[in-house]
Amino acid sequence: MINKEQEIERVSCLIIGSGPAGYTAAIYAARADLKPVVYTGMVPGGQLTQTTEVDNFPGYPKGITGPVMMEDLRAQAERFGTDVRFGYATKVDFSNDGGIHKVEIDGIKTIEAETVIIATGATAKWLGLESEEKYNGFGVSACAVCDGFFYKGQDVAIVGAGDTAAEEATYLAKLCRKVYMLVRRDEFRASKAMVHRVNNTANIEVLYNTEAVEILGDGQVVNAVRVINNQTNVTQDIDVTGFFVAIGHKPNTELFQGILDMDETGYLITKADSTATNIPGVFACGDVQDHVFRQAITAAGTGCMSALEAERYLMAKEDVVLS
Ligand code: NDP
Repeated sequence: MINKEQEIERVSCLIIGSGPAGYTAAIYAARADLKPVVYTGMVPGGQLTQTTEVDNFPGYPKGITGPVMMEDLRAQAERFGTDVRFGYATKVDFSNDGGIHKVEIDGIKTIEAETVIIATGATAKWLGLESEEKYNGFGVSACAVCDGFFYKGQDVAIVGAGDTAAEEATYLAKLCRKVYMLVRRDEFRASKAMVHRVNNTANIEVLYNTEAVEILGDGQVVNAVRVINNQTNVTQDIDVTGFFVAIGHKPNTELFQGILDMDETGYLITKADSTATNIPGVFACGDVQDHVFRQAITAAGTGCMSALEAERYLMAKEDVVLS
């Protein structure tokens, strides 16, 4: 429960998160006069601020960098009156007492909101190597669909053995000359159909029992990956210019555990053809509820849906009061 001594502010629409989903929800909510307040979270702009070029978001024929695109989205949301604030949701009370949800910000302030749009996203998991961090954006990526194009005709490696890794390996195989797939066990976790697809792609070489120990480069960009066979302890350097990490994502949903319905991996569950959660007036959009597509444009699409649904929810509430 939220501490009653805290500073309290009431809003009709609170948006938690500032990726493409959160800002698109803000644009729509602001234009519908819901006067949305966005709390950005610790990484204003979300995952895209950690990528370089974005070439697949419609409307940017020459491409755009992730950070600039997120600044554009923020400016567009602010143009219609969105109040964008730096802050982090630390506690929620969705008991819907009197039609009001309470969200604590930074442990010091309470926002009472008639509607809450959750757009807290997901975080890519990384191996945790120092060199992986050093070359992130310069040969290291956690999104083949976003960055694969830059490695056209080149040799790349991808680590992971789940459906995402299998899907991304086959995606990369269409663009790249050769794809080395590093699988830490002697088998895949991915579905049989996906494994079949990998095994039937001529330019994918699967290296089982193999782990990446170092990403090698010239100080600027990647030129190889050092791997070890965890059965034989033999190491080797494989020449690649791109290194993709596909070992899963973690949805940012700790705050909602035990409160909102989520699947076994923590993704929020929304109703069919809707962004409504199991709590009336609470909506979820973007990667926090989508483990399948995870694209900026799909996140923006569901952000739009959340704002429209929040608006309809508020109108329905008003109709009940008037009748
Ligand atoms: P998963 O958790 O299913 O798989 C993660 C993979 O990464 C596992 O193979 C795991 O290995 C490996 N891994 C984890 N940590 C490391 C590490 N430190 N070093 C090396 N390898 C590591 O994640 P996904 O993102 O693949 O999938 C998430 C969910 O989304 C799944 O339910 C999946 O089915 C679903 N999905 C569905 C798709 C579709 O239907 N088209 C597409 C993509 C995802 P190990 O197996 O040894 O644990």
